[in-house]
Amino acid sequence: MTELLPNFVHGAWVTGTGAGTPLVDPVTGAELVRVSSAGLDLPRAFAFAREQGGAALRAMTFGQRAERLAAIAKLLQSHREAYGAIALADSGTTAADTAVDVDGGIYTLGQYARWGAKLGDAKALLDGGATPMSKDGVFQSQHLLVPTRGVALFINAFNFPSWGLWEKAAPALLAGVPVIVKPATATAWLTQRMVADVVASGLLPEGALSVICGSSAGLLDQLQPFDVLSFTGSAQTAELIRSHPAVVRHSVRVNIEADSLNSALLMPGASDEAQALFVREVVREMTVKSGQKCTAIRRALVPQDRYESIGAAIAAKLAGITTGDPRDASVRMGALVSREQFDAVQAGIVELATQARVLFDGRRQPLVGADPAVSACLAPTLLACDDPDGSDLVHRVEVFGPVATLMPYRDLAHAQALIARGEGSLVCSLYGDTDGEHASALAACATELAACHGRVHIVSPSVATTQTGHGNVMPQSLHGGPGRAGGGEELGGLRALGFYLRRAAVQADGAVIQSLGALPLTV
Ligand code: NAP
Repeated sequence: MTELLPNFVHGAWVTGTGAGTPLVDPVTGAELVRVSSAGLDLPRAFAFAREQGGAALRAMTFGQRAERLAAIAKLLQSHREAYGAIALADSGTTAADTAVDVDGGIYTLGQYARWGAKLGDAKALLDGGATPMSKDGVFQSQHLLVPTRGVALFINAFNFPSWGLWEKAAPALLAGVPVIVKPATATAWLTQRMVADVVASGLLPEGALSVICGSSAGLLDQLQPFDVLSFTGSAQTAELIRSHPAVVRHSVRVNIEADSLNSALLMPGASDEAQALFVREVVREMTVKSGQKCTAIRRALVPQDRYESIGAAIAAKLAGITTGDPRDASVRMGALVSREQFDAVQAGIVELATQARVLFDGRRQPLVGADPAVSACLAPTLLACDDPDGSDLVHRVEVFGPVATLMPYRDLAHAQALIARGEGSLVCSLYGDTDGEHASALAACATELAACHGRVHIVSPSVATTQTGHGNVMPQSLHGGPGRAGGGEELGGLRALGFYLRRAAVQADGAVIQSLGALPLTV
């Protein structure tokens, strides 16, 4: 039997009981390690984090905590190679895809370290200025932000074992709130190893960071009134989380990042250059991390008269993508995370194909160095939906893999109506030009689409080489989306601290307000 990875709880490494769940190489099918959370003393784990971790973090200033984040980023950087090896084995990702996860996490930590340094000696933050509430102006109201006195529980998805931890932990730890992370079982190894490295370094106080691998059973029952819960995963699990009795009873603050039918829109009258950028980005989004990104383009909308030619252009590019074992240098796209996901993606394609044509069929493409009977490798598939008004599946079914659907629109109002049928998405990207009136057309379209998205990403020839990518979540910008996407908000600079801080109005003589000694939170 392979090694059973220990959990880190109440300041100790504890191995779960039982045989555990195996983590498997999605290319070869080989068992790698096992995880188990059975038998853990969860009440003790949560109490320790809350009491020891919370108190120690709150005793530090924002600036001191920011210094720790910077040191963690440096530490993780020094172990990059080991993380790459784990990701290759457990996630089946190419080096470029691993970098999105590992380097993305380190970069996000570094950003929060830099932003946090500006908050210096503060232990509390001011939200806005003081407002006079009496005629003489002496009695005032000031909103104050302080770290919540609970624990931040993260339940994460399988596709970002590194970034998924650090994009949440960076603002939580900076805010002064201890973290317990439960990574998705399939890829828990990388998260566990990163936590182990941080624990061994002694960079964080005891109880500030814990990791529980394996089943989530009993975790939510531990939640208390000042805890916060951040969940990333499917809409289906999100529903269970939101309605959990402990969450409901204790008004636990919850952030949900769920799935999303993100779209890309080629503007009417877009130049050939803008169109080429659209084609490139659709192909990139379908293939980066084998399409297992919550932000990936699922629906690509183009003017009716270009529908056929753009379909052919995307398909031609997809034909050049080699899929298979990322250990082979010629491979551009690695595996899906597991054979279960492989089956789910295949079933998703079949379902979408009841309302769309298959323009490029990944299921018929050869694999490089991977056994189709064993591996979770699957080449990209492009579908074309001739009647996006009469189809509901293409707006509703998220196939979490290298799959996108092309659809034609008549005019901009039609395109916007189709995009809105996603019922709230993480991101929408627009492709057009910025000369003359084109810039205001893009701005107007972005304003219209902002209501149903967390982010609107605009690509034009003027930013062709500098734009950060439709699917890349940058810490400077908000991540999350309304409705179907979960209604959550993460990142967006120091805005992210808001989830981990409690806002209270302090009403007093201005002299007291002046003595609060807090710094303004400028995002
Ligand atoms: P999932 O099946 O919902 O699992 C997500 C996490 O929830 C895992 O850690 C899972 O643990 C845990 N979980 C499962 N059942 C639970 C329960 N009853 N109570 C508490 N926790 C439970 O999602 P996934 O398959 O890992 O991830 C893929 C989905 O995540 C996609 O739909 C994707 O769009 C979405 N996603 C969204 C974002 C975003 O930022 N919006 C980012 C990444 C992914 P186990 O692994 O142990 O089952």
